[in-house]
Amino acid sequence: MNKIMRAGYGSQLEYQTLALDSVSHFKQWNEEIKSGQTLPPGFTKSDIIYCNNGNLTVNDREGLTQFDIDTVKNFAAVGLEKTQLILTNPDHVKQAEAEGFGFAVNPFRRKPEENHGVLDTYGGMVYADRACRFALYKAEVLGVQLVLGGAAGTFSRFLRDANVNKIVGVQTEDGVSHRAALTIMACGGWTPSLIPELDGLCETTSGSVTIFQLPQGNQPLWDRFAPENFPTWKYKIRDGAAGGLYGFARDSQGRVKIGYRGTKYTNPQTQPDGAVRSVPITRWTRESTRQLPHQAAEVIKGFVQQYLPELLSCPMKSRLCWYTDSFDNHFVIDFLPGTEGLFVATGGSGHGFKFLPNLGKYVVDKIEGKEDEFGFLGKWKWRSLKSGEKAFNSIMEGTRSARALHRQTLTREDSLSTQLSLL
Ligand SMILES: Cc1cc2nc3c(=O)[nH]c(=O)nc-3n(C[C@H](O)[C@H](O)[C@H](O)COP(=O)(O)OP(=O)(O)OC[C@H]3O[C@@H](n4cnc5c(N)ncnc54)[C@H](O)[C@@H]3O)c2cc1C
Repeated sequence: MNKIMRAGYGSQLEYQTLALDSVSHFKQWNEEIKSGQTLPPGFTKSDIIYCNNGNLTVNDREGLTQFDIDTVKNFAAVGLEKTQLILTNPDHVKQAEAEGFGFAVNPFRRKPEENHGVLDTYGGMVYADRACRFALYKAEVLGVQLVLGGAAGTFSRFLRDANVNKIVGVQTEDGVSHRAALTIMACGGWTPSLIPELDGLCETTSGSVTIFQLPQGNQPLWDRFAPENFPTWKYKIRDGAAGGLYGFARDSQGRVKIGYRGTKYTNPQTQPDGAVRSVPITRWTRESTRQLPHQAAEVIKGFVQQYLPELLSCPMKSRLCWYTDSFDNHFVIDFLPGTEGLFVATGGSGHGFKFLPNLGKYVVDKIEGKEDEFGFLGKWKWRSLKSGEKAFNSIMEGTRSARALHRQTLTREDSLSTQLSLL
């Protein structure tokens, strides 16, 4: 549906630079649609991909988090301090109002003196489905042949040169062989189970997502959550299990999405090679996944009850969604060591979508053996946790992990919906 667009990256100036570059590409995409220059099937000139409705980071305790302090500092360092507005600073609030972001300062109607946080006026949301269709269309126009979905679009196995350790293409589930000089595996949360060599580097983990349906005809509610009136937000996003919430304005169908990432759940399963890896379960693989871990449901419920009680009576659906976390939260863009002909682009670690317009350039640079000026390719190379190095994401904890889904009490979405409305 939608993804957070933010330029604030704490102390990570290089990602800030990459995000600012991406914003300019997304704006360009909006312009291409508006002018009709690029209009994929099903698009109209009034569609947008990037909605600049601000990205709000709020906390429940006084002052700013270290992440926000670093963000403010890093924007000041490049002369953009007026884009990161501190919510408890009356001058900053005035500036937000003057720039048309007044609506985004206090959407949860907190006491102004307790409204701790930062508004990133570069931020907002990207309509993810539209962005993907737009990017695919651009690729198609350039001559890329797409085979999407079904058996014809599903990887089955690698084609190997029997004499050397070389991948020479893939076979899809319909039995068709696709030979290739270079095969790039970019299968999101499915990549770690398709490329076992990622053990210790990447793991798929789930986020818990709820989607509230605003009632048709309730104009005040539709207006309240409209993107013109409501920002993208994060609440206690780095506060562990009790926090990790984020959410969006409504979409055109009146759906309001709220996600929980405070605990990164895993689904460890024994794989054909005998190893235990976390693998995605989705509504395509098991119907019973329309459930959320009880803990996730409780944190979301607590937040909605306190800050968005208007949603309590709305019907709700839930999903588990699968991320690909690397141990250090950096992406993985590299050749598979020791195997010719195979390249891996993965490890989105929950923040990859915003780079849809500009990440591919780095994939190409790596393939062509070029360096990049910010040193990203060094960060994104094949790597393993060094002894004594502290992991950003603790991965591969196996079946005994407290985060494993089989250890969670699950709440079905229908009962969660009832619980919420009974509050
Ligand atoms: C719930 C959730 C919320 C997120 N929110 C944000 C956000 O707000 N902002 C942000 O920047 N990022 C966000 N992310 C991260 C972002 O979505 C990822 O970093 C990004 O999508 C990774 O892109 P990818 O191309 O590597 O993988 P994906 O987008 O997952 O694409 C992988 C593709 O491979 C296909 N595939 C898988 N297996 C096979 C197979 N066997 N054969 C053929 N095809 C296959 C899949 O169908 C899919 O189309 C979020 C992620 C999740 C899960």
